[in-house]
Amino acid sequence: MSVPSRSESPQQVLQRVFGYDAFHGEQAEIIEYVCAGGDALVLMPTGGGKSLCYQIPALVRPGVGVVISPLIALMQDQVDALQALGVRAGFLNSTQDFGQRRDTEQALLAGQLDLLYLAPERLRVPATLELLDRAEIALFAIDEAHCVSQWGHDFRPDYLQLSGLHQRWPQVPRIALTATATAATRAEIAARLDLGRARHFVASFDRPNINYRIVPKDNPRKQLLELITGEHDGDCGIVYCLSRASVEDTADFLSRQGIPALPYHAGLDSGTRADHQSRFLREDRMIMVATIAFGMGIDKPDVRFVAHLDLPKSVEGYYQETGRAGRDGLPSTAWLAYGLPDVVQQRKLINNSEGDAARKRQLSAHLDAMLALCETVQCRRSQLLAYFGEQTGPCGNCDTCLQPAETWDGTVAAQKVLSCVYRLHQRRQHFGAGHITDILAGRSTPKIEQFGHQQLSVFGVGDDLDPVQWRAVIRQLLAQGYLAVESDHGTLGLTESSRAVLFDGAEVKLRRDPERRRPRTAPKQARAQVELPAEAAPVFERLRAWRAGLAKEQGVPAYVI
Ligand code: ADP
Ligand code: MG
Ligand code: ZN
Repeated sequence: MSVPSRSESPQQVLQRVFGYDAFHGEQAEIIEYVCAGGDALVLMPTGGGKSLCYQIPALVRPGVGVVISPLIALMQDQVDALQALGVRAGFLNSTQDFGQRRDTEQALLAGQLDLLYLAPERLRVPATLELLDRAEIALFAIDEAHCVSQWGHDFRPDYLQLSGLHQRWPQVPRIALTATATAATRAEIAARLDLGRARHFVASFDRPNINYRIVPKDNPRKQLLELITGEHDGDCGIVYCLSRASVEDTADFLSRQGIPALPYHAGLDSGTRADHQSRFLREDRMIMVATIAFGMGIDKPDVRFVAHLDLPKSVEGYYQETGRAGRDGLPSTAWLAYGLPDVVQQRKLINNSEGDAARKRQLSAHLDAMLALCETVQCRRSQLLAYFGEQTGPCGNCDTCLQPAETWDGTVAAQKVLSCVYRLHQRRQHFGAGHITDILAGRSTPKIEQFGHQQLSVFGVGDDLDPVQWRAVIRQLLAQGYLAVESDHGTLGLTESSRAVLFDGAEVKLRRDPERRRPRTAPKQARAQVELPAEAAPVFERLRAWRAGLAKEQGVPAYVI
């Protein structure tokens, strides 16, 4: 294939070099703008086609397009793919030996490169800057631009120095691209990269072919297995777990079930990681079980499902990770199993995180938004898109649209839980969700005996709900800020909002979890049929009257006694 001619139009380059008929979305506008020398900030979802937005201007404008990318492991592949199309591309990063670097540098200086991929840390080396000074530069593309955000989990310190490009080469247009896109992140990118005058191109973040589902977690492995065997037999997928250990365990588990699965996390050596990644990209039927270390820049079109076994830390993370499903536009699933331990764990992680109060507040705000998405009774997609500033109606392709969720008045249930915590604190005792559920259910466990908790007024007041339902109540109280995680042991504490529920009659709305397997306890009716001895009834009556009277006297709800 011939070297692209500089006199071609973007449309001609699209067809002749890349073999595509037409631009997608805003590609044509963005490319025209950058070709004309404008700075651009491009926000487009994963798979939206950001690469062409700098590759084509690099071919149309004189000089070499310099692409800054943090994805060192993918540079070789990207360059190979471009070379296969006849584009003169090269890269400079730490994986190369001296000879390889020299060859690329010589090609650059001879004006024989259309695109040069650079790892950001290369720009710390003065020799690299001097090298670029001696070349004609068509544009700078800053890919994965959200890496400049210190709040995000992809932060790369070397990205901060990229604002210096503009000072050194004021005439060269810059295009920053990312799929991470809240208004706050966008503003941060523009500020830190000194892109004050850049035009913003914001594509819709909707991925209509993805079916979003968030289910209550009870037996996550079994639930995952049901998802795979029931709906995605033989498909490619990604399963995200929080810890390296659970990545290993889950990959083992799937393999033992005869489902091809590989682990991927930062604790594996780089050879194993590269091997697993390339097997995942190559093979038709492979499940990657990974921490969030996996996925950025992965372009595998037929990932049919993304499953989360643990709660993502933010809506942006969730969106990025689920966005790796269905890049080919075919129906795909984004499935998340989420439960009480997730909330406790994430709150604990934030409490223990390094950084100042502002950092912790930021992390909490991220988590709160994620929890709101999990607990919503509205369309998941419209809630997700609203987070990115897009207003849409119900989508018809998410769990809440397909099976509307109900709310119920959880005020009394909340009062019971909060009273229990309140009573325990009066005794200077601190417990987690499990023990609190036992107290409400009126179970006699060794711990209950040991602490004499049968004597608490809230003991046994919770037989209207089963333990699974109580855990759902506590999970939602934690998610909505009516309860707080106070210690590393996951013990629960009250908040300002809980006082409003206990003492000021604030109402609590809860989401009813979909029906599912209930623990094997005796059915409610059977218990109700147990007859009390005749002489017991008046005692109960008196007790009830006494409690009600006391409550009235103290002006507190009946359960706070
Ligand atoms: P992003 O970087 O936004 O995640 P990519 O640039 O990797 O997306 O593009 C995703 C896929 O879409 C690639 O396989 C790319 O070749 C393809 N693609 C991009 N633009 C077009 C287009 N105009 N026509 C057809 N395919 C396209
Ligand atoms: Mg990309
Ligand atoms: Zn919907």
